[in-house]
Amino acid sequence: MGRQGLHKEIRRALDEAEAVGLTVRPLSGHTWGWVVCSCGEHVKVFSTGRNPEQGAKLIRRFVVKHSDHAKEVER
Ligand SMILES: [Zn+2]
Repeated sequence: MGRQGLHKEIRRALDEAEAVGLTVRPLSGHTWGWVVCSCGEHVKVFSTGRNPEQGAKLIRRFVVKHSDHAKEVER
């Protein structure tokens, strides 16, 4: 599934993740993909679920927590 199939709040959270230098890695299946940090941690992105806003919130929390890591390793 392309990113167009995701809830708009989740798409926005993925854009924020990329903006701070985190990697968005699409997978196939129930889990849409991962947001991966250079420190080795990741958060799952679900393409389905009754509460996409909650999913977007989890991604944003990950972005906030790891944005400094992404900047450190970049370049
Ligand atoms: Zn990190």
